[in-house]
Amino acid sequence: MEVIDTVQAMQAAALARRRAGERLVLVPTMGALHEGHVALVREALRRDGHLIVSIFVNPTQFGPSEDFGRYPRSMEADLGRLQTVASDTATVFAPPPSEMYPGTEHTWVEVEQLGDRLCGPFRPGHFRGVATVVAKLFNICQPDVVVMGLKDAQQFFVLRRMAIDLNFALDIVGVPTVREPDGLALSSRNAYLTPAQRQEAVVVSKAVFEARRRIEEGERRPADIIEAMQSILAQARGARVQYAEVVDTELLQPVERIGPGQEVLAAVAAMFGDTRLIDNIITRAPL
Ligand code: AMP
Repeated sequence: MEVIDTVQAMQAAALARRRAGERLVLVPTMGALHEGHVALVREALRRDGHLIVSIFVNPTQFGPSEDFGRYPRSMEADLGRLQTVASDTATVFAPPPSEMYPGTEHTWVEVEQLGDRLCGPFRPGHFRGVATVVAKLFNICQPDVVVMGLKDAQQFFVLRRMAIDLNFALDIVGVPTVREPDGLALSSRNAYLTPAQRQEAVVVSKAVFEARRRIEEGERRPADIIEAMQSILAQARGARVQYAEVVDTELLQPVERIGPGQEVLAAVAAMFGDTRLIDNIITRAPL
């Protein structure tokens, strides 16, 4: 498994493979790899092409009071895990921050509207940081296919919009969320939870599952679905709910009434102490 840590070397390696007629499949991550990331890698390996996994904790997507400093970093363990899943067939791109942000940059990628909804108001600048680093990763790694998790549904829709709007010639594939047996979505941030918070955190997935159940059973009124999600979230006394919403999957606007066959996203964000957890379910209403 080749590990590359400079932009120049990664871009040269990617362009050389493309010139040789190879396709490239990218899985972007911030490391601290878990079974959710492994599911993305497995999906990527099913695609035709050479696998590139990027590991980069992107400073520009963290707010000043967020967890950039304490975000888990475990490069050795990550490389071991990738070696097990992908053996020698992958390239790992793991640049230091100074490679990605040499300090001379003045260009940012902003995805209007989609980036302002849901998590947007609670994490000012977050999606600008995400869109910017992913646009850079696309240009550096030159992928034909990019594999991402639907656990971060807003991120998925924001980046899909960016790829269309900026004419990146690639496909973005979404992978369903990998969960703990009790439903909690796997996340690198789960490691921050105390045992008591971990127990309470199950309400986040319970809330989106309840939304899915109601939507699939034909409930058309988001207000009632949101009320049901809120009452599940209220069972966790230590949770501070940031939002529980039902939105469309184009611009992530609140839905007044769910139409027949409409695809919607039920989304939740809540704080457990200093730990912010999100969960999402994309589902389609019956005709
Ligand atoms: P992160 O390292 O948390 O930035 O995530 C990197 C990629 O892994 C993103 O596309 C995430 O959506 C995806 N991901 C994170 N957690 C999960 C999960 N539990 N199931 C599926 N994909 C996930």
